[in-house]
Amino acid sequence: MKLRRVSAVSIKTAAARLRAGGVVAFPTETVYGLGADGLNPRACARIFEIKGRPRFDPLILHECSAARARRLFSRVPAAAARLMKAFWPGPLTLVLPKAAAVPAIVTSGLKTVAVRVPAHPTALALIKAAGRPIAAPSANSFGRLSPTTAAHVRKQLGAGPDLILDGGKTRIGVESTIITFAGGRPVLLRPGGLPLEEIEKIAGPVGSAGKPKGRPPAPGCLKKHYAPAAKLRIVARGAKVKDGPRTACLAFSEKPKGKFAATAVLSPAGDLREAAANLFGALHRLENSGAKVIYAQRVPAHGLGRAIMDRLRRAAA
Ligand code: AMP
Ligand code: MG
Repeated sequence: MKLRRVSAVSIKTAAARLRAGGVVAFPTETVYGLGADGLNPRACARIFEIKGRPRFDPLILHECSAARARRLFSRVPAAAARLMKAFWPGPLTLVLPKAAAVPAIVTSGLKTVAVRVPAHPTALALIKAAGRPIAAPSANSFGRLSPTTAAHVRKQLGAGPDLILDGGKTRIGVESTIITFAGGRPVLLRPGGLPLEEIEKIAGPVGSAGKPKGRPPAPGCLKKHYAPAAKLRIVARGAKVKDGPRTACLAFSEKPKGKFAATAVLSPAGDLREAAANLFGALHRLENSGAKVIYAQRVPAHGLGRAIMDRLRRAAA
């Protein structure tokens, strides 16, 4: 498998692959992305094939500057412009009416498109060298745990991508926060790497998306998603769980007592950012332990804790 350490040379090779319609996995500050030329429908189709992703689940386009990203939208509400200014590059995806140039396969036929500017030097350099927006969902098999290392990508996608750029462990560790607008007001589609509290300081109160009408508007919002191969059960932080050789335990800050197949502590200091950064790596490890059940302790539901609880709930669904 073509796994290459990040360097000026490997980024150049990867960009050439992207321009030629290839598929390249690369690090961002959130999780690893599976990238293809976002203006090339055939290249985007390969993303869906490699991930086993249903075509109704739209892709996020990644750009290397806010100015270029803006051109992918046909209309930008004032509050959205403020969010771009405050948080791009960063773990915030905006869903707004699409520009004509955005192909239907990217948006699954929707009139809106999801766009972000990643805060990661490799991602930015790659997009810049490719010279076009890069469609990049998480580089995992559809519905499975998201990848926070190149090894996670290889484990799930094997020979699927033409190239995997290895830039080490991702800093934030959960996917971007997705915000759309309704009547000029922000609406949360998916909690993620940018805490809601930060967004509200700039854009005012953020509404929550109601029940999707008809087809799913935001399949990162599919009920079951981000799931490990074992069964996941969410438990209270202090709760006693039955240990055993077929059981694993994902704890927030304190090492669980008992004999488990494997245990993981997300943040000994009880820090939610650290916990988010360790979440998927810990779940990958517990999954590899061969445990049949993973007990996951609740984390406080503020800041990045919202994204963590969201992913745990979907993994448990
Ligand atoms: P991923 O790139 O795998 O983190 O997932 C991308 C997610 O972005 C999708 O699963 C949707 O939840 C969301 N998304 C992308 N485009 C749109 C759109 N036009 N409207 C609503 N949600 C979107
Ligand atoms: Mg994903």
